[in-house]
Amino acid sequence: MNPKKIKDVYEQLVIKLKERSRLGGVMATMHWDQEVIMPIAAAENRSKQMAALAGVLHEKSVNVEFGQLIDELVNADINNFTEIEKCNIYEAKREYELETKIPKELIQEIAELSSRGHQIWAKARQENKFEDFAPTLERLIILKKKWAEFAFPELDPYDANIDVFERGMRMERLTPIFDKLKKELIPLIDAIRKSSINPDVDFLKGNFPIDKQESLGRIISKDIGFDYDRGRMDVSVHPFCGGGHPTDVRITTRYRSENFIESLFAVIHETGHGLYEQGRMPGFLDLPVSDSLTMAIHESQSLFWERMIAQNIYFCDIYLNLFVETFPESLQGVSLDKLYAAINRCNPSFIRVEADEVTYPLHIILRYEIEKGLFDESISVKDLPDVWDDKMEEYLGVRPSSNSEGVLQDVHWSGGAFGYFPSYTLGAMYACQFYSRMLLDINDIPKKIKGGNFSCMKKWLNDNIHEKGRLYSTDDLIVKVTGEKLDPCFFIDYLKKKYSEIYKL
Ligand code: ZN
Repeated sequence: MNPKKIKDVYEQLVIKLKERSRLGGVMATMHWDQEVIMPIAAAENRSKQMAALAGVLHEKSVNVEFGQLIDELVNADINNFTEIEKCNIYEAKREYELETKIPKELIQEIAELSSRGHQIWAKARQENKFEDFAPTLERLIILKKKWAEFAFPELDPYDANIDVFERGMRMERLTPIFDKLKKELIPLIDAIRKSSINPDVDFLKGNFPIDKQESLGRIISKDIGFDYDRGRMDVSVHPFCGGGHPTDVRITTRYRSENFIESLFAVIHETGHGLYEQGRMPGFLDLPVSDSLTMAIHESQSLFWERMIAQNIYFCDIYLNLFVETFPESLQGVSLDKLYAAINRCNPSFIRVEADEVTYPLHIILRYEIEKGLFDESISVKDLPDVWDDKMEEYLGVRPSSNSEGVLQDVHWSGGAFGYFPSYTLGAMYACQFYSRMLLDINDIPKKIKGGNFSCMKKWLNDNIHEKGRLYSTDDLIVKVTGEKLDPCFFIDYLKKKYSEIYKL
């Protein structure tokens, strides 16, 4: 086919990709609406509307004409295309294959069981009855193994499930990384527990009016660089970052009047996700090339601001006065060191979502090892509660007193999301590696943080990560930005240094 003709074919693909992205944006806006402002009586009808739209999107994804366009482009001379065009074609091909390779009945069964599974899980958790959830979990694992055989027949089924969230990541690579973390963090946590230092966190509990919490969150998210002309902040049960387009990014938080720091950190975390979305590649916003790269890279952006910046002593330094002015009753007289120690307290506990940055990776490693065992059948579902509790005791020195506090705590498995957990800790490691590089690239970061000058850091992330979209694999991106592949030592060294100081180890 001649180059002029092939460009026409490409333009036809672009029209279809943009249309799909826009319909996806409508879906995302409906989802935000459902979580934030929808009247409760609309729930049933909304799920029907969303199912109808999902059907339209699916039809467009498996459309024969769409497949033919992709075929023609894939078989054409690769020199016809720019890097951006090549990426759009490759992404369209991957997505099309994933949509068409899986039998419809299997997709339906997974969707049906995931939605029913959520209710079964919620009830089992509430009643502390693991045995009520176990058959659903067993079935979901069988279905996700079958799915893997169709989707990525060349991969081990658990690797295939990881690949959905973290493209290219394999157990072969992840296991030694996680083993290294385990080897270093378990003794660190043990030493922290035995330390005589126990940061005072009482002043973080009190009465913090919600309107004041909200304005504080707005000030800080704006300082960091969230653009309120292209985004909003609202309230939802679980904080998230959504919205229909990079020009319309919706972040949420939740407020508890007795604790302001939780909501503030949720705002900062979601702001990090929001900056990634708002910073996407200009000019290609409705095309896959500008999409965020992987779950872990997204998480690296939220954790960068939450942990590397907001849990930093220089950040406490600049905002301590504002905290005291906003909540004088609770915070009057609190010193910088006291605030810094309190927000960085390491406290081994049962619950992942409440975990601090030192213990969090062990919650993830435990889940990773269990998922791996469930998929290779070295762990059976009926033994899960004991396996869970034993690992908890081995890694964190605490033993859950109920399954609700243990194996039943997370929503992920009830929706068939296996292979998702590693993204959290990969994100933490990437965030740390990015920050180490940034310290070399930008002069005197502590002074910049102390001066409230975050724009150079945001620009660095925009230039190096957000605007690169899906042009590179995760490995290639990390090498381009930091000069080397993912190395857990950045994260381990950061934690050891920081917590040895706080706990005088
Ligand atoms: Zn996040």
